[in-house]
Amino acid sequence: MITIGCHLSSSKGYAAMGKEAVKINANTFQFFTRNPRGGKAKEIDPEDVSRFLAFAGEQKFPCILAHAPYTLNACSADEKVREFAWMVMKDDLARMEYTPGNYYNFHPGSHVGQGAQKGIALIAEMLNGILTEEQSTTVLLETMAGKGSEVGRSFEELREILDRVEKKEKMGVCLDTCHVYDAGYDLVNHLDPVLEEFDRIIGLSRLKAIHLNDSLYGWNSHKDRHARIGEGTIGLEAMIRIINHPALKNLPFYLETPNDLKGYGEEISLLQKFFVE
Ligand code: FE
Ligand code: FE
Ligand code: ZN
Repeated sequence: MITIGCHLSSSKGYAAMGKEAVKINANTFQFFTRNPRGGKAKEIDPEDVSRFLAFAGEQKFPCILAHAPYTLNACSADEKVREFAWMVMKDDLARMEYTPGNYYNFHPGSHVGQGAQKGIALIAEMLNGILTEEQSTTVLLETMAGKGSEVGRSFEELREILDRVEKKEKMGVCLDTCHVYDAGYDLVNHLDPVLEEFDRIIGLSRLKAIHLNDSLYGWNSHKDRHARIGEGTIGLEAMIRIINHPALKNLPFYLETPNDLKGYGEEISLLQKFFVE
């Protein structure tokens, strides 16, 4: 069975997200831990969480994926912004323990002209300052499109971050199909070589989740504009090859396409139809 879901609004809590996911035939979902533009997180309601955990157990959800706010930037030139990043990730990881054993994805950051090496060092410094032995959450670095001064535009940059993290067993990678295609990895014509490269540089065992998005702009465009499945430059055929690739087919897939719940449901059933058991 394919593990697939989409990004859902967390404003009504965990139990509501679980119900919404099932309504569109999904068996997982992604959500923002707080407003994507930053700010304070809503208090966790333990009753809501326990309702969700019971429901997720019944429905056999294999996992869920939390997404950090976009404003989390451990490699900003501004110390206040870096402090905010530490505070948010620490708080998010504490909150994640209400739903133990899941994934927390974040954009590595933007070095804002300080250089990728400085960025990589600051990102690893945050992870080393925050990850604990006790946490049950795996923290995922997202592959980025390379827009502006984004760190994580290449497998090498992610590898360099991972190399510097002490608690490596708490770390993984989330591959965003729109981002890597935008970053210059040709998933459409060279899926096998791209995955071989990922394996050689990072290791496929580190790959824990896929953001399944088509791309509005072309290969290597560094634009980061998502499109609906089959409506972008990656196209449906390549998407079908991606979800069925032996190295990927057992991973959870998350749609972050410009869509409403009904549209997500249609994309999910389309992908389920083409998934080969
Ligand atoms: Fe993201
Ligand atoms: Fe993404
Ligand atoms: Zn994106």
